[in-house]
Amino acid sequence: MAKSTARKKTNTVRLKFDTSWSYDPAPESRSAASISKQYDLFINGEWKKPSSKKYFYTINPATEEKISEVAEANQADVNLAVGAARQAYEKTWGKMPAKERAKYIFRIARIIQEKARELAIIESLDGGKPIRESRDFDVPTAANHFFYYAGWADKLEYAFPNRKASSLGVAGQIIPWNFPLLMAAWKIAPALATGNTVVLKPAETTPLTALKLAEIIQESGLPPGVVNIITGAGQTGSSIVNHPEVDKIAFTGSTEVGKIIQRAIAGTNKKATLELGGKAANIIFEDAPLDQAVEGVINGIFFNQGHVCCAGSRLYVQESVMKQVVRKLKDRIASLIVGDPLDKNTDIGAINSKQQLQNIQKYLEIGKKEGAEIYQPSCSLPRKGFWCPPTLFTNVAQSNRVTQEEIFGPVLAILSFRTDDEVIEKANNSPYGLSAGVWTDKGSRIFNMTRRMRAGVVWANTFNKFDPASPFGGYKESGFGREGGLHGLLPYVNLK
Ligand code: NAD
Repeated sequence: MAKSTARKKTNTVRLKFDTSWSYDPAPESRSAASISKQYDLFINGEWKKPSSKKYFYTINPATEEKISEVAEANQADVNLAVGAARQAYEKTWGKMPAKERAKYIFRIARIIQEKARELAIIESLDGGKPIRESRDFDVPTAANHFFYYAGWADKLEYAFPNRKASSLGVAGQIIPWNFPLLMAAWKIAPALATGNTVVLKPAETTPLTALKLAEIIQESGLPPGVVNIITGAGQTGSSIVNHPEVDKIAFTGSTEVGKIIQRAIAGTNKKATLELGGKAANIIFEDAPLDQAVEGVINGIFFNQGHVCCAGSRLYVQESVMKQVVRKLKDRIASLIVGDPLDKNTDIGAINSKQQLQNIQKYLEIGKKEGAEIYQPSCSLPRKGFWCPPTLFTNVAQSNRVTQEEIFGPVLAILSFRTDDEVIEKANNSPYGLSAGVWTDKGSRIFNMTRRMRAGVVWANTFNKFDPASPFGGYKESGFGREGGLHGLLPYVNLK
């Protein structure tokens, strides 16, 4: 530890109240990651130049520097990728004994573990999230998903007793930018375990860990064409969705695009799972351990810049402890470290893209215009890159847009309530239903709340906890279908 003046030259900013001691910068080394200058498309086990001949840059949102350029797949490339996946399904993967399939999936999991440090660095460089998050959560949880589903591959008869499970064919998988490697693992692992082949497209702002995963898949010796990873933006995604040889769509992203996909596949035989947006209610009762609850709220909305579909972005506090909780929250966010995502002390990294930052800023203005009181700890943010300080909105109404709409940034709307019935009604008064949190000392209250809240996941006295064995997914405009756990196998099989 050293006096806070030691960090003057770094890209890390410690917020107000930091009058005493702070940690010395502890940046992870950029050089431990090998990133190519240019990436082609991973089709049929090989790297192929895009027929479009076009490439686009992916940048580091903390510095706005170009990291690499990646290929833009057009319709012809999508045709190639889907054709390779179909061929692999019919000739090799679909016929392979399940216990052999499992060995490949285990191998992928182990190589992810071996390359964990490199993957974490690339995830933080490309996406802007703190290295602590990518190192301690994203990468290990991605490896765990491959381990978990490798275990199921030859046990499907136990997963679905007295039923015969058969694979679907080719799965088209499209993922967002907030958990690039983890979302790829969520999608690829259950698809492979159940005998399907895959064409996966990462988000255009965070393609690099999926492309690293393609290298890992190549190293694992997985037969060519079983997993194809292609890059591009919405048009590429749309070509996957509309391809007639794709049997199943697994999509994670915005509700807006989810609706477009649902319309596109209506009237086809394609199966679909849609994991969409969220506006989670985090509820603090007066009998809750308040310090623990405040820490859970911070973890739930600020530690990943609020770039989490299940982020606890609406906070309901029982009226008797409202003042106390708001004071504790203000004190705590003033001690958060905003800055260099590669610094191991950083709590809040960079916003993923300029477009996303503009979207968050738009909501900050909307909140103010709606009459809410805004609180941001005073701080100077790095001049380059995309940054947003942790933000609290108080004096907010249930009908305000900052309470109803997904902001997907480090912005928390705080409201009060008096009774259990009132807060359940308010929590459920949302177009979304992905997750929620309850903080209370009473077990009976937890059961009452979890039973009556329309949310796919309800955490009690904790928040944002994930495990490969637990299913995850939403109600209402948060989508349908479940990923993770035994439930996560279901969307990839036909049952007889
Ligand atoms: P997005 O919908 O803009 O993009 C998601 C993916 O879809 C990207 O790969 C994008 O290129 C692709 N895409 C865009 N237009 C398409 C189209 N017309 N057809 C097919 N594909 C298309 O979402 P985003 O901004 O990348 O991610 C943020 C959103 O994702 C938030 O709403 C968040 O809540 C949601 N999300 C949900 C979950 C969950 O499990 N429910 C998890 C993570 C993120």
